Amino acid sequence: MLFDTHAHLHFPEFAGDLPAVLGRARAAGVGWMLTIGTSVEGSQAALALAEREPDLYAAVGIHPHDASEATEAAFEELRRLAESSEKVVAVGEIGLDFFRNLSPREVQLEVFRRQLDLARRIGKPVLVHCREAHAETLEVLGAEGVPAAGGIMHCFSGDAEVARRCLDLGLLISLAGPVTYPNARNLPEVVKLAPEDRLVVETDCPFLPPQPYRGKRNEPAYLPITAARVAELKGRPVEAFGARMAENALALFGIRPT
Ligand SMILES: [Zn+2]
Ligand SMILES: [Zn+2]
Repeated sequence: MLFDTHAHLHFPEFAGDLPAVLGRARAAGVGWMLTIGTSVEGSQAALALAEREPDLYAAVGIHPHDASEATEAAFEELRRLAESSEKVVAVGEIGLDFFRNLSPREVQLEVFRRQLDLARRIGKPVLVHCREAHAETLEVLGAEGVPAAGGIMHCFSGDAEVARRCLDLGLLISLAGPVTYPNARNLPEVVKLAPEDRLVVETDCPFLPPQPYRGKRNEPAYLPITAARVAELKGRPVEAFGARMAENALALFGIRPT
């Protein structure tokens, strides 16, 4: 069984056929899915969905794209949501995106720090988004510290040196569809250097489908393609290594396998 550690199943892209999407995921051996908020409203929707489905969990947080909308009331609501249900297992996604810069950089930095602090205070792991901002993200994490509950560098896109620094900070590394692309750049090297107990996989659906589905909507049923590629790079049997990565996620999120 696999754990999809990063999905956005409450997004409008899935509104028309979510039961079928979840059915295909389960049939493909995806035993757990984490649907991740990117705004206050999105975090509310993520939790509402997780409350309805036994194999879904939620993360609450404000994405760097939406950082400009993070008011005091927004942080308060995230905290309330996180403490309202055992289905909220992480704070995310949070971080820095200097590729699209949809919110000013100073605002992104402040909102990232505030949510790291929130995670620390409520004892939950963090899910970090980092695009074209590796130096700054590592600087913030180094200065503030990763919460004791740990965290994941999601959709890892850095090089071996960035990976080593993430591992030193105590983060897990999550691989998404790009590890299956012919131009996977540094990712094969990153998979090889990371210890087995520090790797997880994700779809980041509806975005970033693995190679055979590029250009289409991504969904959790495609996770086995990414997991198989990671296992292959690691030189490990696909099923056993997929299960190993699911165990890593379950341990981080404090979920008891059923
Ligand atoms: Zn992201
Ligand atoms: Zn995401």
